[in-house]
Amino acid sequence: MPPTPERYQLDVAEALARVVAGVPRLGTERVGISGARGRVLASPARSPIDMPQWNNAAMDGYALRASDITRVPATLEVTGTIAAGSRAAGAVGPGEAMRIMTGAPVPDGADSVVRVEDTDDGRERVEVRGNRDARRNVRLAGEDFRANTSVLEPGDVLGAAHIGLLATIGAAEVEVVRAPRVAILSSGDELVPPGQFDEVLAGRKIVASNAVTLRELVRDAGGEPVDIGIAADTRESVREHLKRASGADLLITSGAVSVGEFDYLRDVLVAEGAEIDFWRVRMRPGSPVAFGRLGAMPWIGLPGNPVSTMVTFEVFARPAIRKMRGHDAFYPATVEVVLGEAFDRTADIAHFIRVKLTCENGRLVAHRTGSQSSGVLTSMARADALLVLPRGVHDAPAGATMRAIPLNDRLAHSDTFDVG
Ligand code: AMP
Ligand code: MG
Repeated sequence: MPPTPERYQLDVAEALARVVAGVPRLGTERVGISGARGRVLASPARSPIDMPQWNNAAMDGYALRASDITRVPATLEVTGTIAAGSRAAGAVGPGEAMRIMTGAPVPDGADSVVRVEDTDDGRERVEVRGNRDARRNVRLAGEDFRANTSVLEPGDVLGAAHIGLLATIGAAEVEVVRAPRVAILSSGDELVPPGQFDEVLAGRKIVASNAVTLRELVRDAGGEPVDIGIAADTRESVREHLKRASGADLLITSGAVSVGEFDYLRDVLVAEGAEIDFWRVRMRPGSPVAFGRLGAMPWIGLPGNPVSTMVTFEVFARPAIRKMRGHDAFYPATVEVVLGEAFDRTADIAHFIRVKLTCENGRLVAHRTGSQSSGVLTSMARADALLVLPRGVHDAPAGATMRAIPLNDRLAHSDTFDVG
């Protein structure tokens, strides 16, 4: 006997906890560093070299002994020139200096590099006119890191600096957590792929846009999307399409989870050996979201309305994908926002409201982007964030403080450069 919907009805936090507990962290693979951006490192990256490898000049100028410039001006004999890329030649003795370029090895005996602006730039003899650089401008060998130590640790998320570091230590490949292959299944007799727009123009069908938004969201979360097509609203078609998910690490379906329709999707899944963990969450939009397992493959059943699909992806699927690909921080971070208008609630469940964020007097102010109908994708396209009105919060007047989940990198960018 299938459990009643009541038994399945969960709060968002409980449902999310079950999803992240129900998906595994994936195993590891080796990838070339040029494809490693955003991946999570699985084993330490050890350096075979000291960094820097030699004491080197931080300035263009003259390598010399600080004891020779305690009184300035001081005139020293120039015994050579060391270019970046050349080996250290000889040593600097008392009363001597060598011309040196940034990055070039500092010769033995020298403990300072005086910048060229503080000298007369002489070739045979140099007059040093200031001594603010005494004992300065020498970068010591190994001051960044030592040979045989690890410079990156498991769990590090590889960004530009990390990949630059890997190149610095000669690592052409690294071991990272595998990116999940995410099968995306649409379902509904009314749907066609974007390529069959003539049927849409003829007024017979709608584009299965969820397959497209999900492909982008999965990529954005670090998964590899695999579109397994559109199942018709029949058991046979769903069964056929589910086979195409074999080999995927995660199955995401959209549609066919609303009351009435869920029955056949659940029947097919259960007949194929699936366990259903939950169906329905106390949230809007997106309440008929489902989670289960088909053999070893976790399944997240997103509702079909385009905004419900995207909101439930943000709340459940993105954290699942991030956990699978090795992140420790897999939940969406939230920001504090001030309500720019009153928000009313339609039921005692968590509300996720599409809002535009503006910065006013140093605070983020949230305004709704328009219709909050779960089919209106334009108001999602205009949104910077999902304002969260948690279950149990009954009053959301203008000026109240709430939290929101950013949807884009708008908060990371500005049309002015505000550094004071
Ligand atoms: P369902 O959950 O199957 O009842 O679908 C709810 C609504 O979402 C219906 O209006 C469907 O036409 C629509 N819908 C379902 N799947 C998709 C999809 N892949 N792309 C766009 N709209 C969809
Ligand atoms: Mg449907």
